[in-house]
Amino acid sequence: MRRIMVGVKRVVDYNVRIRVKPDNSGVVTEGVKMSINPFDEIALEEALRIKEKGLADEVLAVSIGPADTQQQLRTALAMGADRAILVQTDALVEPLSVAKIFRKLIDKEQPFLVLLGKQAIDDDNGQTAQMLSALWDRPQATSCSKVELADGKVTVNREVDAGIEVLEVDLPAVLSVDLRLNEPRYVKLPDIMKAKKKPLDTMALGDFGVSDAPAFKSVKVEPPPQRQKGIMVKDVAELVDVLKKKGLV
Ligand code: AMP
Repeated sequence: MRRIMVGVKRVVDYNVRIRVKPDNSGVVTEGVKMSINPFDEIALEEALRIKEKGLADEVLAVSIGPADTQQQLRTALAMGADRAILVQTDALVEPLSVAKIFRKLIDKEQPFLVLLGKQAIDDDNGQTAQMLSALWDRPQATSCSKVELADGKVTVNREVDAGIEVLEVDLPAVLSVDLRLNEPRYVKLPDIMKAKKKPLDTMALGDFGVSDAPAFKSVKVEPPPQRQKGIMVKDVAELVDVLKKKGLV
């Protein structure tokens, strides 16, 4: 079975205006719309396209998160994933723990390709793919903007400062995907109905022998400073004058 494993993280929807909790301990998630991390939707879309080209047999969506993450996994199944696994925990799981859980699932599921987002938009860590590659001792390519599979290898494009870097990577491998790789498909109603019958297995974090004890502590989360009201100037001379008074020129 040629299997692709895809990471699907539940995050606050990117359209939501983030609010910091009054005690500065984090951001408000209660009553807030949650979605699949946008980069993970792109990873899933790519996995589905690879399968549709006949280059994979199964797409497995994996998430580590609270029970409600079933909603995002059902969406992943409605997009076209064949199976889903939820590793359930209410703890905030750090990238190293996520990578360790994926590493254990790899032993069980034997994927030839693991596709993750280049970052989760809630914590902006951008670490999981790299850590997984090290734990798995398999190659990685990060921030892929094009992915092509052929002859047991995957060729990827990466947008770097100098232009496009093309890398050839031996399989099995882990790739993290960038924004311009593809445009994820919309989910249609019949697909949502079909997804209800697809297998979604729930496992406990404890089954993995991975600790959810954090290695770091979030000391404080602060909202960005409020933008000050601007002033209108009538000409360049007045602008320069104001800037000088503020010590900016
Ligand atoms: P990060 O290193 O936290 O920025 O996350 C990078 C990628 O790792 C995400 O885009 C996901 O594909 C995957 N990932 C991170 N955390 C989780 C999680 N809790 N469940 C599933 N996948 C995750």
